[in-house]
Amino acid sequence: PITRLPKVGTTIFTVMSQLAMEHQAVNLGQGFPDFDVPERLINELDKAMRTGQNQYAPMPGTPALRDAIADKTLACYGVRPDPATEITVCSGASEAIFNAVAAVVHPGDEVIVLDPCYDCYEPAIDLVGGVAVHVGLDPETFAPDWDAIRAAITPKTRLLMINSPHNPSGAIWSAQDMATLDALLADTGIYLLSDEVYEHIVFDDARHESALRYPGLRERAFVISSFGKTYHCTGWKLGYVVAPPMLTAELRKVHQYNTFCTFAPAQAAFAAMIRDEPEHYQELGAFYQKRRDAFREQLGRTRFRALPVPGGYFQLVDYSAISDMNDVEFSRWLTIEKGVTAIPLSPFYAQAPQGQRLVRLCFAKSDATLAAAIERLEAL
Ligand code: PMP
Ligand code: GLN
Repeated sequence: PITRLPKVGTTIFTVMSQLAMEHQAVNLGQGFPDFDVPERLINELDKAMRTGQNQYAPMPGTPALRDAIADKTLACYGVRPDPATEITVCSGASEAIFNAVAAVVHPGDEVIVLDPCYDCYEPAIDLVGGVAVHVGLDPETFAPDWDAIRAAITPKTRLLMINSPHNPSGAIWSAQDMATLDALLADTGIYLLSDEVYEHIVFDDARHESALRYPGLRERAFVISSFGKTYHCTGWKLGYVVAPPMLTAELRKVHQYNTFCTFAPAQAAFAAMIRDEPEHYQELGAFYQKRRDAFREQLGRTRFRALPVPGGYFQLVDYSAISDMNDVEFSRWLTIEKGVTAIPLSPFYAQAPQGQRLVRLCFAKSDATLAAAIERLEAL
């Protein structure tokens, strides 16, 4: 084919949100909160725009925001990245992922991704001529399969991409997992992309095991965060990358020609928000845990089987007691006939496990939205 992404269609999130709109379904598909952005953040954004912060921001991000990120990283993970050489603000985690992959993956290089994985990983690899090597996570717990990962490593492996808390399953990596990863990558030249966009959404007193906590991982990692998830503003598209100076320099070469810089007034707003209201991110886990628990209790009245959710804002449910349709058909049927939109799991895989009957529901929604969905799901 003469085009670069022949396998790719329209993302499942767009497809399902459109279908939800057409059929006025309760949309628990695409992952976005339906509650308000913190008032403080809106006021700061307004102030930034009214005080003239409307032109290009510095290419790597404003000094105020990079400083705030450095201090926050120290508070959360015990290391303070150098704002001058180790932090780059990007237009969402999506841009960050593209930049990181483009910065280090050469044509023919292999990149290990762990399925199911977020849908932008493989296209980012394909676009630079890399080869995505898919390794399955455990189909029930979504834990890493170390033997399979070890077996997938070859002299051509350039990068490994991980994601905890995990989209779509909510699984989180333990300290033991990170130590195993650290040992596995030691003495290799393999880089790590650690997608940590749900870093503040972990439950039941678990600790988010950022790659930044592990010196052996930190020295080879792009660690990626997104303000969209943390501040209920997925439409603002702001995120950042922490990486050691050499990797940051390479990533910035891509960033400077990809977008050059990111929405300036929002950078001012996040800098103020991070500094002045640390409670917001400190309490985010508890905030979502209440929603998770309420939603799971309500799901108990349905015929769905709810899988455990240690982190993130997605609930996987097994619908095999309700239907033996495949997951894509089931999600369409659920939207069109039953008025609730879910995301099928198979688009997150190169090859989904045979007979898997799982869909993803987003519980980053108001009580009223969740109640409306449950009322419809109870009838199934
Ligand atoms: N990675 C994961 C795992 C995600 O769930 C998302 C957003 N859904 C992204 C990356 C992209 O984040 P952003 O919206 O900041 O580009
Ligand atoms: N990350 C969101 C999800 O997993 C969707 C982002 C998007 O629509 N591209 O649902």
